[in-house]
Amino acid sequence: LAERIALPPRPDELHTLASAINQLLERMEKAVVREKQFTADASHELRTPLAVLKGTLEVLVRKPRSAAEYVENITLSVQEIDRLTHLVDQLLLLARFDSAPQVEHRQELPVLSSVHDVLHRRRAALEARRIRVDVQDADTPPIHSDPYLVDLILDNLLDNAVKYSPAGSTITVALDEAGARQRCTISDEGIGIRPEDLGRIFDPLYRSDALAHKEIGGTGLGLSIVARACALLGIELAVASELGRGSTFTLLFPAG
Ligand code: ADP
Repeated sequence: LAERIALPPRPDELHTLASAINQLLERMEKAVVREKQFTADASHELRTPLAVLKGTLEVLVRKPRSAAEYVENITLSVQEIDRLTHLVDQLLLLARFDSAPQVEHRQELPVLSSVHDVLHRRRAALEARRIRVDVQDADTPPIHSDPYLVDLILDNLLDNAVKYSPAGSTITVALDEAGARQRCTISDEGIGIRPEDLGRIFDPLYRSDALAHKEIGGTGLGLSIVARACALLGIELAVASELGRGSTFTLLFPAG
């Protein structure tokens, strides 16, 4: 820990400078502690699927099994590998946002077509859970943004909307204008978010420990990726939610 500068007795310029440096040191220390915690949490998240994978495969090696048991255990292993791959992909993406400056390729982009692309990719999950998506577009003009990052944002928000919603419910995606800015809201009729979780869901690896949330799989990285991509593109991101009623995520795109 860095030693603090002793503050001179009189509140003069030197005093102000010393206390500013002390505040800076405090902020840096907090960032280092956060970083260490993140590394520990991420390692734990990586170890869990690896342990499951090892256990599942060891069972197959130890005793001769029926063909059906082989298929079952190998299927479980493949699922675990998929989970692990998704987790590693998300960690790499987050690391890229935090270290290297992202290259943006801004171009004319109709948000409606990005929404339809994402929905098209997610159609199997939507059909399986009989979730209807109501897309409302007030003939909004295209925005000027990076298609890859906008897709990433919409994909993560829609993935969550589907995941945390009951079968047979409706998700509404509405595009409209708020003054000179375009707005996209994604509303679900899902399990909602506790008020005490709302301030933390954008933190890397944070998952609500409410029972209904714990039963649904996830990495806790999606929204931190969304928040970073939004910051990069100057998109204002907001969330409103009521436990048991549903959640609304709002994207306000920069004007012009
Ligand atoms: P995860 O992979 O856990 O879904 P995210 O970073 O995408 O990670 O979300 C963080 C947490 O925020 C989730 O674990 C969940 O508790 C909560 N959350 C996010 N989106 C929703 C939603 N649409 N409805 C309810 N809870 C949500």
